[in-house]
Amino acid sequence: MTQIIQARAALVRDHGAPLRIEPVDIDAPRATEVRIRMVGCGICHTDIVFQQGQGLAVPCLLGHEGSGVVDAVGAEVSCLVPGDHVVRSFLSCGTCPSCAKQKPASCYHFAPLNYGGSRSSDGSSPVHQDGSRIAASFFNQSSFATYAIADQRNAVKVPKDIPLELLGPLGCGIQTGAGAAMNSLGLQAGETLAIFGGGAVGLSALLGAIAVDAGPVIIVEPNEARGQLSLELGAAHVINPIVTADVLGEIRRLGGGGVNHGLDTTGIPEVIAVAGEAILFNGMLGLLGVPPMEASLPLNMMSMMARGIGVKAIVEGDSDPQRFIPHMIDLYRAGRFPFDRLIVRFPFEQINEAIDASKSGAVIKPVLIF
Ligand SMILES: [Zn+2]
Ligand SMILES: [Zn+2]
Repeated sequence: MTQIIQARAALVRDHGAPLRIEPVDIDAPRATEVRIRMVGCGICHTDIVFQQGQGLAVPCLLGHEGSGVVDAVGAEVSCLVPGDHVVRSFLSCGTCPSCAKQKPASCYHFAPLNYGGSRSSDGSSPVHQDGSRIAASFFNQSSFATYAIADQRNAVKVPKDIPLELLGPLGCGIQTGAGAAMNSLGLQAGETLAIFGGGAVGLSALLGAIAVDAGPVIIVEPNEARGQLSLELGAAHVINPIVTADVLGEIRRLGGGGVNHGLDTTGIPEVIAVAGEAILFNGMLGLLGVPPMEASLPLNMMSMMARGIGVKAIVEGDSDPQRFIPHMIDLYRAGRFPFDRLIVRFPFEQINEAIDASKSGAVIKPVLIF
């Protein structure tokens, strides 16, 4: 009989304030759930948005790029056993029209399943402290803790010969960027791409583009260190918008008139306006950055019409985690997807330093080590 266990968790006590590591109680797994001993957890921009005050009441427990070892399983879990290595991703319902077509990133119930702060089935939380409820189940995981609960649907079994502590970001940020290039745009070999923003999502998109032999790829990024890393990872050109005022003109010059497709990871309307004009005939503009709540698209409709340009808002890279995470691992093993180049490790106890390093841009993808 599996019991409730104690864990240490980094809680948001006040929106915008540093997280505090405190003891909590973690439920035993229910019928379709697994409990995981956390080994690593990436920090994603969405964690920071919620830490700053969006969405969940405090105290709450965030973290949604977890990796770890299955510790206990519910009675109806069929695909995992204790000891399995898993990466945790977003949860989908499995039955809506999108899920029925194996498009779980477009699940009709994505928001309540991932941002609700509780199990969507009955509103309960798997995390308590002294008998009081903590808002958790963030992306159905809340991985900023030494143990956490997930459903078997959002725990993806991974091979044991790859460093488990590095794999968590494959469940969100890296999956989002690489999936945008490989799934959402469906990039083909030789197709050109401009990526606006060289953070974790933008550079993951670069890795995905290189993995399918797309290119040349142009990165637009003001941070010099990130620009340099982009070149090392396979970008053909980096445009620094602080140095080059006419970014659109430079993309047209470098790309022989423009690029086949564009990806925006900034959410900044002025940047998206440039991206829309940089794309050649019948191309697609993918939108990945979180925009201001009130923003509308800054695109000229006649200009888009004249070139036949499409616009696609992208969630989680249109990925099916149970298939795409193993695919990225296969590419990594073959030396064609070096996502570990984006990662810097931090001890779990330094979670606030890790968040600061992400916010300042000093680190592309911080990963907490438990
Ligand atoms: Zn669904
Ligand atoms: Zn994320």
